[in-house]
Amino acid sequence: MFIIQIASECAPVAKVGGLADVVFGLSRELEIRGNAVEIILPKYDVARYDTIYALQEVWRDLAVPWGGGAVHCTVHFGFVHGRKCFFIDPHSREHFFNRRAFYGHHDDDLRFAFFCKAALEFMLKSNKRPEIIHCHDWQTGLVPVLLYELYAAAGLGHCRVCYTLHNLKHQGVTGPHVLHASGLGRPEYFLHPDRLGDPFRPGAVNLMKGGIVYSNFVTTVSPTYAHEIRHTDQNFGLGHTLYIHQNKFGGVLNGVDYDVWNPETDRHLPARYSAAEPANKYECKRALRRRLLLRDEFRPIVAFIGRLDPQKGLHLLRHALFRCIHGGAQFVLLGSSPDPAIQRDFERLKWEINDNPDSHLELRYDEDLAHLIYAGADLFLVPSQFEPCGLTQMIAMKYGTPPIVRATGGLADTVFDVDFDPRPFAERNGFVFHDFNPQGLDSALLRAIGLWHNDPGRFRELMLNAMRCDYSWNHPGRHYLAIYDYIRHK
Ligand code: ADP
Repeated sequence: MFIIQIASECAPVAKVGGLADVVFGLSRELEIRGNAVEIILPKYDVARYDTIYALQEVWRDLAVPWGGGAVHCTVHFGFVHGRKCFFIDPHSREHFFNRRAFYGHHDDDLRFAFFCKAALEFMLKSNKRPEIIHCHDWQTGLVPVLLYELYAAAGLGHCRVCYTLHNLKHQGVTGPHVLHASGLGRPEYFLHPDRLGDPFRPGAVNLMKGGIVYSNFVTTVSPTYAHEIRHTDQNFGLGHTLYIHQNKFGGVLNGVDYDVWNPETDRHLPARYSAAEPANKYECKRALRRRLLLRDEFRPIVAFIGRLDPQKGLHLLRHALFRCIHGGAQFVLLGSSPDPAIQRDFERLKWEINDNPDSHLELRYDEDLAHLIYAGADLFLVPSQFEPCGLTQMIAMKYGTPPIVRATGGLADTVFDVDFDPRPFAERNGFVFHDFNPQGLDSALLRAIGLWHNDPGRFRELMLNAMRCDYSWNHPGRHYLAIYDYIRHK
């Protein structure tokens, strides 16, 4: 099968969060299973060009109809760790992708609407006729809309679209100017509640809703999140749309790319280890302490890695930090926020605990340090208010670092409490709490620190259980292929 992924991120060349890992990991798995996969991305100035091999121009003057005229683009091709990636570089006055940041600009709606249009225009002109287009999140929600309304008639008629929702908090809500710019026009038609009309704001266009309505199949990134966005208030207004389209909707748990995330082969680590020979994990702990200037005491390290977004439970991270340093543990955080107020808050917190030898906050993006933290920590905290899938808890498990998570979304699908889960002990792999408040967090965090101190034998068993879990792309890869097959033959 020929599959094209259209996305705003792909690891490691353009990564903000889990979306990037998914686009890369899924593409790789699909290729291993014998499919031809290509990925279309924007050519950002902030992309990591050191991760692209043999970057070259493949299309010099792609004229993309836009705003009544045309924007001329160059399309580049290169391999990103073996994946075939095309990068769209528009020569527009607005410098759509030369902004020194992936997201957070006043015209993100237009930037990514343009990207959708350019990706389809490129496929049309370069004669790419994939059986499946797989697109992701609001940034590419317009792809199935443009395909059905404009590009099917132009020659892309037999392509089927699978659309994956990674986070319903961001839906790309904008005005009808996007319809005009992209050549769709007809606001009265597209703003109908059955199409792109936003459920809350009359007259507003909802790009994610367009993706749901117009694609052949919609997935989200875990079964529990699929349930939550149908039946709770976590859908940010799209519950009705998902209800109407429930027959083409399902949850597929994301996988982790064990080629990148594997303590047996990880070149970022000072020493490698596995479930069969875990002793070297302690070397990683010592290296982490040395790197972050933590003291060498008999204490577990509790770690967090992630975007500092309110969704991640920021007040609970702060609470955990003080619980750890006053409660026989150490605390490490690696994260950053595009929101200056949040970044400043954490910088103040970092300054507050500056002299404490049991904690360290690193407030930036650092892939290399992330690997060392997953390996060197003893426990991994994910206290999210909601979490569509969450990759960090699955990565942590692979590195023998049992997670402490709130039971929501993909966290509930992947972490099973050491004390309270009905599964046999060998299948339990972490600590789970339910209430999104400090008491809830304490109910798991204190058990975790207590087990580490008081019952090392059982803690070690738990750690090995976590390492033996299989959250690779193997199962999800098969699942996505079944979906592609289904929509291809429907
Ligand atoms: P989300 O998609 O909400 O950002 P996920 O848990 O799905 O969360 O994915 C987060 C990914 O981003 C993981 O691979 C994690 O290691 C990585 N990550 C997040 N913040 C940082 C950071 N500051 N430095 C390095 N890696 C990070």
